[in-house]
Amino acid sequence: NTPLHELDPDVAAAVDAELARQQSTLEMIASENFAPVAVMEAQGSVLTNKYAEGYPGRRYYGGCEHVDVVEQIAIDRIKALFGAEAANVQPHSGAQANAAAMFALLKPGDTIMGLNLAHGGHLTHGMKINFSGKLYNVVPYHVGEDGQVDMAEVERLAKESKPQLIVAGWSAYPRQLDFAAFRRIADEVGAYLMVDMAHFAGLVAAGLHPNPVPHAHVVTTTTHKTLGGPRGGVILSTQELAKKINSAVFPGQQGGPLEHVIAAKAVSFKVAASPEFKERQERTLAGAKIIAERLVQDDVKAVGVDVLSGGTDVHLVLVDLRNSELDGQQAEDRLHEIGITVNRNAIPNDPRPPMVTSGLRIGTPALATRGFGAEDFTEVADVIAEALKPSYDGEALKARVSALAAKHPLYPSL
Ligand code: PLP
Repeated sequence: NTPLHELDPDVAAAVDAELARQQSTLEMIASENFAPVAVMEAQGSVLTNKYAEGYPGRRYYGGCEHVDVVEQIAIDRIKALFGAEAANVQPHSGAQANAAAMFALLKPGDTIMGLNLAHGGHLTHGMKINFSGKLYNVVPYHVGEDGQVDMAEVERLAKESKPQLIVAGWSAYPRQLDFAAFRRIADEVGAYLMVDMAHFAGLVAAGLHPNPVPHAHVVTTTTHKTLGGPRGGVILSTQELAKKINSAVFPGQQGGPLEHVIAAKAVSFKVAASPEFKERQERTLAGAKIIAERLVQDDVKAVGVDVLSGGTDVHLVLVDLRNSELDGQQAEDRLHEIGITVNRNAIPNDPRPPMVTSGLRIGTPALATRGFGAEDFTEVADVIAEALKPSYDGEALKARVSALAAKHPLYPSL
């Protein structure tokens, strides 16, 4: 029972350093968030010790009476949160949730449609060397000139290629998708519709984004992005598909579920149903709009910085650096240097290679969780705008970042 700092000072030091990094910098990676202490407590609990292959009430191991309670609470809470008929809370990650959902609905060689990676899709939506690109015949769709998904192209490609599955969802897209239109097209060609709401699930839970559940056969999500829980995945489905989905997760894709993570998921679903969570998601959206509005002002336009699709309806902004002297890598490094963490991102028709890119993805969920409001986001937006100019003053910007971090202490009890 030796504590971590005594047993393994090397690992403990890295954990402490990571806590200090999170506390002293501004986290603006759109897929990240800060899990509540109670979520981390559940995840660090003795449930990590328990094997529980199977599902509540139908396990292949003894001693599952308590993890059964936990898993059933998680299932009931997430079904209520999104109005779903069935839920599987066992996928270890978003990628595993997508793999299991596809395994349930498709055979190798079937055709799937997904948003092209460079246009904002995820690796698991059909990228060439991902399982999805290797197992299935992929017909990618794209965004049009206006930066929005080209639904006419989706319809045309669906009619031509007759996919078995259409995936609607994204990792880097600043607008909302038309789920009803996707379903109409899927129905016309006899395809399943799977919505991957990993990025915007928190907004849906708060009632601030259309809910895909009534439209899709299957909805997958991660639990650690806007939803603000532990790292993990979930699959929601109709009752009709529930059995197929469950057997695709276990024994199809996974062995023992991570019951400690499922406990942490359950806690985060409780948080996500609270009025405070809704208020946080409102600040998340307001912050993204403030940043988008700042980054289309004349002073940044003059240095070649622009915002894809002209703005945002969600928790992230995609910065277009095609006309800037900074490429995505340089802009990411520049912001890192002043204490803001973002990721470079390929943008549609990017002239630069994928490791460099001409875009930045800037998200507000983590800062909203930290307590940032409109005034703080206005300051963050101005710091970013100034940092992307050739004449930036790194030391002054670093001081403004430190002041913001100090104003909103993170994990003061840790
Ligand atoms: N789906 C989408 C839309 C994502 O953006 C991501 C992660 O970035 C995933 C799935 C995969 O989630 P994970 O990293 O938990 O496997």
